Amino acid sequence: MRIVKRAEEMMATARPVVKLENAYKAFGGTPVLQGISIEVCPGEVVAIIGPSGGGKSTLLRCMTLLETLDQGSLTYGDIDVVIPGADGSAVYGTSDTLALARQRFGLVFQQFNLFPHMTVMRNIIDAPLVVQGRDRAEVERQARALIQDMGLEGCEEKVPYQLSGGQRQRASIARALCMNPQVLFFDEPTSALDPELTGEVLKVLRQLAAEDITMIVVTHEMSFAREVADRVVFIDEGCVVEEGSAEQVIGNPSEERTREFLLRSL
Ligand code: ADP
Ligand code: MG
Repeated sequence: MRIVKRAEEMMATARPVVKLENAYKAFGGTPVLQGISIEVCPGEVVAIIGPSGGGKSTLLRCMTLLETLDQGSLTYGDIDVVIPGADGSAVYGTSDTLALARQRFGLVFQQFNLFPHMTVMRNIIDAPLVVQGRDRAEVERQARALIQDMGLEGCEEKVPYQLSGGQRQRASIARALCMNPQVLFFDEPTSALDPELTGEVLKVLRQLAAEDITMIVVTHEMSFAREVADRVVFIDEGCVVEEGSAEQVIGNPSEERTREFLLRSL
């Protein structure tokens, strides 16, 4: 995949790209995250599975700074984004620190990722130009390569409503990749798509995984998780119930709750 690896990534370290520790989050007194820790190392693909309402989206939203943690710590490589305060409550870094951290990740949701009034090309190049202040010719070159990688040739000047759902998701992925993120987060990227279009998007995700793009993917697609994930994390009621290789967690779960969930997901 045509993303530019940054110098710091070239250094062979096992330092996690992102690390969340002991995260707590409640909405109106209702606990949603109850002491979750999760990390991902360079090149790793982590699949998050679990029942609806278990806190998976909230977890991703906290990790991508769309939602604030109540307690816990969050680091992106050497950037301390959230540290625990003296009373245990989450203390966020300065706006400059958060802006730096935001450059490290990309996020693809179920849908509504693209600006509806912008062409595919504009959607992809907008943030690299505006947020990262990069050179237009260089960004456009990368965008064209990504459009090709995503099988979107001919869609450059189309606006989102002219695309199929699968094309839209692939354009969203190209947009996220054009920021050269160190880690990509996906929140059920195929759950709004019908089976045929789901296949197109999973194919792109497999391609990313094969190219060692670091990813955290919330998914209901167990066969996909089993095939591409280096690690599977099962989350229920705001806690990590079980974590391990796909073979272990999906193939031979040790927790009753995981077994029940998997039986219902068949
Ligand atoms: P999942 O993605 O695993 O289905 P979510 O993180 O979306 O779970 O939701 C976990 C729980 O948090 C649910 O009970 C949901 O209703 C609640 N929740 C999520 N976002 C909010 C919010 N902004 N305000 C209040 N409750 C929320
Ligand atoms: Mg969700």
